[in-house]
Amino acid sequence: MERKDYETANGLFRNLIDSGFPLPQEMPYFFAETLFELGQYDNSSNFLNKYLELSGFTGDHYQGAKELQKKLEAPLNAIQVCQLCDRRGYRYNECFTCDGNKQIEQDCNYCKAKGVVGCSRCAGTGMITRINVFNIPEFYECERCSGNGRLTCPVCKGSKKEVSACKTCSGSGRLTSEHLCDHKAESHEH
Ligand SMILES: [Zn+2]
Ligand SMILES: [Zn+2]
Ligand SMILES: [Zn+2]
Ligand SMILES: [Zn+2]
Repeated sequence: MERKDYETANGLFRNLIDSGFPLPQEMPYFFAETLFELGQYDNSSNFLNKYLELSGFTGDHYQGAKELQKKLEAPLNAIQVCQLCDRRGYRYNECFTCDGNKQIEQDCNYCKAKGVVGCSRCAGTGMITRINVFNIPEFYECERCSGNGRLTCPVCKGSKKEVSACKTCSGSGRLTSEHLCDHKAESHEH
């Protein structure tokens, strides 16, 4: 909901830029104020910086902008030091794929979860054929696989399982949610 508000505001802003009309100079300032009220401090700061960049000292709301900048300091700082939210102040959730473990165990792809692979030296037969000087084939036990024709999978070492970084969360164990963070750890008391 809160993010939607921002997207609406941001969309409006984009449309104004794209329309080619001269941008109302005070617009970014009003957005910054609105977003501050919505608790979207990072977005507010972006618009405020945009305003100061565009208007410099000459803007009608230069004074207000400076005050807003001061008001933003504390909440922006709180976001910075908080471990529970991302840089924009949105709360992290535990990744639903890996349950926060950062990696997932899945069937070994190399051996297709068999735990063994065919020996390449003897083509899985366990025997090596050599033609001797009399042009007669001689059979030897393959020394690589000890005549088994199969080898323990080099990837999973026979466990049939492979552990890899979780793709859903790129191995971070967490995902950004749509909720603004209050920077307080969830209480587990009931
Ligand atoms: Zn072999
Ligand atoms: Zn394997
Ligand atoms: Zn994950
Ligand atoms: Zn936080």
